[in-house]
Amino acid sequence: MRLLLLSTLSYMAMVITAHSAPKNVILLIGDGMGEAEISLARNYEFDGGDGLFIDTMDFRGSAVVNALLDSDPSKLAFVGDSASGGTVLATGQRTAVRRVSTTAKFGVPIVTIAEQAKEKGFSVGIVTTAEITDATPASFGAHSNNRYCLKAGDRACNGDTPIFEQYFDTDYDVFLGGGQRHLPGKYGDGTIEQAVKDNGYTLIQTTNDLSQGILSISDKDAKLWGAFSEEHFPREWQGYQGKYAEKMAIDDNNMAIFPPARNCEANPKYAGKPSLQAMAERALNELDAKNDANDKGFFLMIEGASIDKSSHDADPCGVIGELLSFDRTVEMAVEYAKNNENTIVIVTADHGGATQNIHHPYYERYKRISQNVPGLFKMLLTKGGNEMLAYYGGNNITKQTNPGDLTDQISPGGLEDQPHTGINVPVYAYGLDDDNKLSGTIKQTEIYGVMAKHLFD
Ligand SMILES: [Zn+2]
Repeated sequence: MRLLLLSTLSYMAMVITAHSAPKNVILLIGDGMGEAEISLARNYEFDGGDGLFIDTMDFRGSAVVNALLDSDPSKLAFVGDSASGGTVLATGQRTAVRRVSTTAKFGVPIVTIAEQAKEKGFSVGIVTTAEITDATPASFGAHSNNRYCLKAGDRACNGDTPIFEQYFDTDYDVFLGGGQRHLPGKYGDGTIEQAVKDNGYTLIQTTNDLSQGILSISDKDAKLWGAFSEEHFPREWQGYQGKYAEKMAIDDNNMAIFPPARNCEANPKYAGKPSLQAMAERALNELDAKNDANDKGFFLMIEGASIDKSSHDADPCGVIGELLSFDRTVEMAVEYAKNNENTIVIVTADHGGATQNIHHPYYERYKRISQNVPGLFKMLLTKGGNEMLAYYGGNNITKQTNPGDLTDQISPGGLEDQPHTGINVPVYAYGLDDDNKLSGTIKQTEIYGVMAKHLFD
């Protein structure tokens, strides 16, 4: 009798466990992470060999990226931005550049997977190395017709509710990133601490704060807001002596003068900032602790933002350092998924960047040039002692350094320098069924459905 009772109880326990294991989605977005950016990092750090964690993920797809024209959404734009790309990943629907989860032309809000998850009782976390209001995180936490409508008073708002104010209404559990300067209290009355607290969040601002205890263990309703940088995070790496790619110098005989190949350096401005991996780990710990009380699960978006920002600046060492940091974060997320059933990890990009890895002109005849060599060059010395030439030739628009002089009302951050590209972006996944739809060549819009099916079906 007792034996029977015990076995019945343990059977019941098994059944309950099987039905109640939380379902989790971890979406990692390498902003501007096309194959060229990945190759540059692989070549620099591993001389083209093994070492990148994403290369060990045997589940691979390639996503076709398209956006819509805002003036006529029946027409395509073959190159998107972080707003249109973020919207596709968050909603499964295409829109125009600069739009944050609203429809092209008409500006109708499109429901996001993060909102749906919250609505259905899941926990939600957002982690980025950009300002927390930047287009990628905003696509999951706000709806705005202009990605630059960040805070009250921004001209780009044009009557819309600023992205920051919308965040405070989401009830999402974790926001970790940069952008202290946009926090209420920073630019208006009061203090940052008070503004965040008034909206139900605990504020953390240092690497030390980040490594302290997990709030959700003792308080399942705890909400965490991390603001670790005034603006976007500084990049982990920089070029030799802090320099980006540069115009090629030519001598009196019209011969190209290549500077000697150099290693990348640690960026001193990055010192003391938390890594993407450290932020992602804290977010996972908080959401995991909530899963103990909430049998639903969580949706967590983690963005490596400055792969893209480095390409915009023609900063190949920035690209490499940020990509390696993102790669370590992917490994950590997959490790979590291996130890927690019903967890899927999807890794992709919103769009490609302008980075190229071009032919090294070994031969004398390739060095004789006419004039005005187009583009920007950086000769890198890889870890294994090989030379690699990074190149940016997208355009020569001058980056605006003084936003106060802005004549373009749309972008307060200055005009973009090197452009995005319209190439396919990679998709990697862990934990999906074999019959899911993300392998081979897919449309970027299909990723949303796979995540929604896992969480909500
Ligand atoms: Zn960009």
